[in-house]
Amino acid sequence: MNNIPELFGSLVFNREVMKERLPEEVYKSLKHTIQRGDDLDITVANVVAEAMKNWAIEKGATHYTHWFQPMTGITAEKHDSFVTPDGNGNVIMEFSGKELIKGEPDASSFPSGGLRATFEARGYTAWDPTSFAFIKDGSLCIPSVFCSYGGEALDKKTPLLRSMEAVNDQAMRILKLFGTEADHVEPNVGAEQEYFLVDKDIFDRREDLVVCGRTLFGAKPPKGQELEDHYFGAIKPRVSAFMKELDEELWKVGVLSKTKHNEAAPCQHELAPVYSSANTAIDHNQLTMETMKKVAERHGLVCILQEKPFEGVNGSGKHNNWSLSTNKGANLLSPGKKPYDNAQFLLFLCAVIKAVDEHQDLLRISVATAGNDHRLGANEAPPAIVSMFLGDELTAILNAIDEGVPYYGPEKTQMEIGVHVLPTFPKDTTDRNRTSPFAFTGNKFEFRMPGSAMSVAEPNVIINTIVADCLMQFADELENASDFRTALSDLIRRTIKAHKRIIFNGDGYSDDWKREAARRGLLNLPTTADALPLFTSQKNIDLFTRHKVFTEKELRSRQDIMQESYCKIIAIEAITMCDMAGKDILPAVGAYIRHLAETVNAVKAAGMPVPHHTTETLKRLIELSDEMSASLKLLRANAEHAQRNLGNENCGFFCRDSVLPLMLELRRAADEAETITERSFWPFPTYGDLLYYN
Ligand code: ADP
Ligand code: MG
Repeated sequence: MNNIPELFGSLVFNREVMKERLPEEVYKSLKHTIQRGDDLDITVANVVAEAMKNWAIEKGATHYTHWFQPMTGITAEKHDSFVTPDGNGNVIMEFSGKELIKGEPDASSFPSGGLRATFEARGYTAWDPTSFAFIKDGSLCIPSVFCSYGGEALDKKTPLLRSMEAVNDQAMRILKLFGTEADHVEPNVGAEQEYFLVDKDIFDRREDLVVCGRTLFGAKPPKGQELEDHYFGAIKPRVSAFMKELDEELWKVGVLSKTKHNEAAPCQHELAPVYSSANTAIDHNQLTMETMKKVAERHGLVCILQEKPFEGVNGSGKHNNWSLSTNKGANLLSPGKKPYDNAQFLLFLCAVIKAVDEHQDLLRISVATAGNDHRLGANEAPPAIVSMFLGDELTAILNAIDEGVPYYGPEKTQMEIGVHVLPTFPKDTTDRNRTSPFAFTGNKFEFRMPGSAMSVAEPNVIINTIVADCLMQFADELENASDFRTALSDLIRRTIKAHKRIIFNGDGYSDDWKREAARRGLLNLPTTADALPLFTSQKNIDLFTRHKVFTEKELRSRQDIMQESYCKIIAIEAITMCDMAGKDILPAVGAYIRHLAETVNAVKAAGMPVPHHTTETLKRLIELSDEMSASLKLLRANAEHAQRNLGNENCGFFCRDSVLPLMLELRRAADEAETITERSFWPFPTYGDLLYYN
């Protein structure tokens, strides 16, 4: 391989390139825009655009595009070439500051949840200078936000940037109280990405995978993940070649791809980057997902990002590691070594505890999609109930503070906040507690509910905003206190007492926990349909408008989009199932029934006793075939009803109650039929073929 440090970021217009190619004054001015959000002057933009264009052309680019993240959850781009006529029949390569700053894609076909009627297809993209431009497929990509002309956010990046601002504002107020030196606080994110790789030829022969990205039928193979032999197992050569190329592609565009390994399920893998500022991390995760798909095809593979592609083996998640750091390099979730730092750590910890407890609904909503619902609560992913894992030691320390009793750690200490250093508690390395939705892992929180296919923008918008809100309440109280230390101790104690019900260190998969969580009054929102209505509760409207993250209108539009997408996905899956059952499975089973019936007749004609196996199989297949056609009819009718009622707010409940259960019913019958139908009759590749390719 090439020299990696040289390769890394070679297609990124990063700080180093800026410094090298921009006049000093322009570079300084751009740096201020990046760091402080100052407005960018058009004369500066013109110089930057010229330098970017020249750099991009040297790297082989011919086009530029504003690269943005509409509400579809994936990225969008519209390419324009630098080519401009010079008036003499020739062309010159041009790119202006205006084109850099602002783009106007025809926005009518992006989901807007009613914010922008299709007849006024106007929306614009604006350069986000806090994320570096880069080159992809011969185009200079300019990371951008996407807004309506009324200023409403039509994308996932705008609210993210607003939420980062909110958490910065409130965290800075707290740091000021402690006298901690910093100009800026920023959320950091490291998103671990799980995915499946399957052979493209096999994949292409399954309508459900091609259309829906997940299997809707399929009997369990003889071996799933029971032997636990895939996790961290040796990587097979074909996959290894894919991973190598993926890393190189990612490094070129500046993605800090770090860790790769096999995951629990057969042909499931994971990639983890080194964490970075939330905005960059989210852009990079989008790039990672896109690059995974592209590179897989070059290796005759398909990368499946859907959350639950196969029943019976684990689905894929995207663990969102989150922390707050200052521009001076301090991690605010790292327990400090001095008493005062510790008190500050405890306060930030309390803010997160309070935030998670008060806004369980929002965390659940931030990961609510039709695909992820199949994963949450299955015995492999965190449950749909939100709780927090702090580890036994830290929990014991908090309990001691709460009860005002000494903490019996390595030595007995009466914890006095702001005076004593926290007893050292080991990072939980042995008991990682994979079952917790929101786990403290030493100096960061790991939110494990996000699904593998989704943008992690939403979860981070929510985490930033709810933590900002709790920090705001803390700052309001402490700024007015007559004695800071007493007020601080009192606040920490009160917060622990009020919100410790959210802390749970046990097994999140167990039924006991479901009962215990109900006893504690924690929310259990098993499906997206259950969760979404809460998005626009008064509490949430107040929260988001208070921090200027969403207007009420924006919030409602997002709720509509999520609602509609939930119903659309389920309806499409249901109709795909009907298609496969009607056109592939039933005819195949019918053909096998005929084959068996002919066998029966032939054996009888030969004067021999018909084998039991033949008659039993024949009988059962006829029953299953009837069951399938009955549920097929109902399912088709209900799926079409759902499609006609997409805008209706009850559509989600209808899908939950009247479509999903029928899909399961149809699947059960089909999967059983698969197990007793002769292999050569089955119309598409089985789970065995998919999961154990070479
Ligand atoms: P695992 O949870 O599988 O053991 P790792 O410990 O390898 O994973 O790291 C998980 C992710 O957390 C990585 O992407 C890493 O960069 C990220 N991470 C580490 N420290 C922080 C931090 N302070 N803030 C945010 N993310 C972090
Ligand atoms: Mg992890």
